[in-house]
Amino acid sequence: MITEVLTANQLKKEAPVFGQLSFNDHEQVVFCQDKDTGLKAIIGVHNTILGPALGGTRMYDYKTEWDALNDVLRLSRGMTYKAAITGLNLGGGKAVIIGDPKKIKTPELMRRFGKFVHTLGGKYYTAEDVGMETSDMDTVREVTPYVTGISESKGGAGNPSPVTAYGVYMGMKASAKFAYGNDALAGKRILVQGIGHVGEELVRLTSEEGANVVISDINQERLGEVSAKYGVDIYQGEDLYAETADIYAPCALGATINDQTIDKLKVKVIAGAANNQLANESIHGALLQKRGIVYAPDFLINAGGIINVYAEIEGYGRDQIVAKTENIYDTTFDILNKAKATNVTTNEAALSIAEDRIAARKKGM
Ligand code: NAD
Repeated sequence: MITEVLTANQLKKEAPVFGQLSFNDHEQVVFCQDKDTGLKAIIGVHNTILGPALGGTRMYDYKTEWDALNDVLRLSRGMTYKAAITGLNLGGGKAVIIGDPKKIKTPELMRRFGKFVHTLGGKYYTAEDVGMETSDMDTVREVTPYVTGISESKGGAGNPSPVTAYGVYMGMKASAKFAYGNDALAGKRILVQGIGHVGEELVRLTSEEGANVVISDINQERLGEVSAKYGVDIYQGEDLYAETADIYAPCALGATINDQTIDKLKVKVIAGAANNQLANESIHGALLQKRGIVYAPDFLINAGGIINVYAEIEGYGRDQIVAKTENIYDTTFDILNKAKATNVTTNEAALSIAEDRIAARKKGM
């Protein structure tokens, strides 16, 4: 669900292109088109001060091209802060391919996309995101070295999603500790929205700890599979956002915390994998703070995937991947405390640390 979108209607045609809603000092935005394969893609390079922009490629059947542009701009900005707060020497970038992966994704289209990535000469590295598989990254690798998340058999770090889920789990436990005084998830009612690559692994980790997990997804088949595999309940109600629970874990698409949902929420903690969960960071971040709902900043706790793919560039191994991902626990706990002490939203507290790191590097350049 992408609710805060820059639709054609909302687009302020009188405003300059660079002044539109989601532009946030982006360095470069590349529009890519190939009629033979049906490829329509946008690559957003937000910031490269800390290093090359790295971020996955999302393939999605966007309602309009403006929605796709808005998504790539928001996502690429988020990657800058994710890398910065995780201490990685990477900038922020992201790509979107417009279309339903089940209908238009072919190896030819992926190779053509890879060639566009290659033209950026290493300024942008791609990886997997929604609608992509590790095998797609292997296909992209055939035409460019500027891709991560390739198969282990081909020298890559493999699927990043389990590591992302592990990081979210760490962030969720730290948030529980902040909200409840201890980090045990056993007995906690956790709503997991979206049980894809990351969501399913999060269901495994939390249910194995004894949490009372409830799952929701638009894919009925997967609901049945995951419910049977882990013995968890499928959400049966009409409105997940109004459900009483301890923790809400958004693991589908972004902007689910928005004007329509925020007043209904009856949870104590929000900690999930989806990027850009707050439709409007300042407004919805402040409303969560006012309502005493602990929000674990998404770009902080979903950094496991980028830690995993960064290993391919830096050449570190599994032990360091796990250690860096476990560090998300301490960082989350520190940021939640910092936000409380300084009376800012948790998102603002995390952003200011990330921005300070980027500013310090820029000064030294
Ligand atoms: P995925 O495509 O494997 O899974 C997404 C799931 O959400 C699917 O099962 C889909 O059916 C479901 N879904 C879509 N719309 C829904 C809706 N309205 N309500 C309920 N379910 C819905 O994606 P993923 O790789 O698991 O990623 C999930 C989220 O985490 C995305 O926002 C992604 O950007 C973010 N993320 C993923 C990674 C990673 O390593 N994969 C890293 C960082 C962030």
